[in-house]
Amino acid sequence: MEKKSNQQYRKNSRAPFDRRKHGEMSYAEKREADKVDKLSSWVPKTKLGKLVKAKKITNIDEVIEKYKILESEIVDLLIKLKEDILNIGQAKGKFGGGKRRIWRQTQKKTKEGNVATFSTMVVVGDENGHVGLGYGRAKETLPAREKSLKKAKLNIIKIERGCGSFDCACSESHTVPLKVEGKCGSTRVILTPAPQGTGLAIGDELKKILKLAGITDVYGKTFGHKRTTLNLAKACMIALKKTTQFEK
Ligand SMILES: [Zn+2]
Repeated sequence: MEKKSNQQYRKNSRAPFDRRKHGEMSYAEKREADKVDKLSSWVPKTKLGKLVKAKKITNIDEVIEKYKILESEIVDLLIKLKEDILNIGQAKGKFGGGKRRIWRQTQKKTKEGNVATFSTMVVVGDENGHVGLGYGRAKETLPAREKSLKKAKLNIIKIERGCGSFDCACSESHTVPLKVEGKCGSTRVILTPAPQGTGLAIGDELKKILKLAGITDVYGKTFGHKRTTLNLAKACMIALKKTTQFEK
């Protein structure tokens, strides 16, 4: 057998393995297929779940208005969601530490030693007026994330959008319809309507929420201990919810 030169051998071994050439799905496709599979094999337990599965209810607004959602698959079936994770925790240790992380790590002191708990905050939305925020905790990182994702879907709310800006006065729904305020703990968030092209003039964590809610322009103002992302995010959701409390 002819011996391959070193260079040739390297060249061959580094060629990327194309799954599609071998009649397999790419990883992204596989993940998507898994999701669809899970949804189609889902057996609903609640009355609402059965109605949605049988396609007797197809409108998410009707569900939010009349029912309490107890199964996250209901929301998955009705709208296409995007998700994002807020930085609620921080890295510990030397060299400054304090770097923002998505896992919030807390400890409980016991006789046997310190027991750590992880928690995360996930925001979901369809970028079209529906948004949900979920907080979950577990002994490991990944279950905490799954829990919060599920809770975010259960907590989904409808928000009202419009153009409440005096400088713009168009008829598109790109900002909040009126000035709204939310409060959680010492943290206060005020959202003011802004003309088109302003962008989201607000902190990065709240940007994630507003983007998934489908708001593109807003002037934000925050007061209090706003480093507590947990309370900041909750206050923002309370403010967003208030957009539906006023009749046109
Ligand atoms: Zn406008």
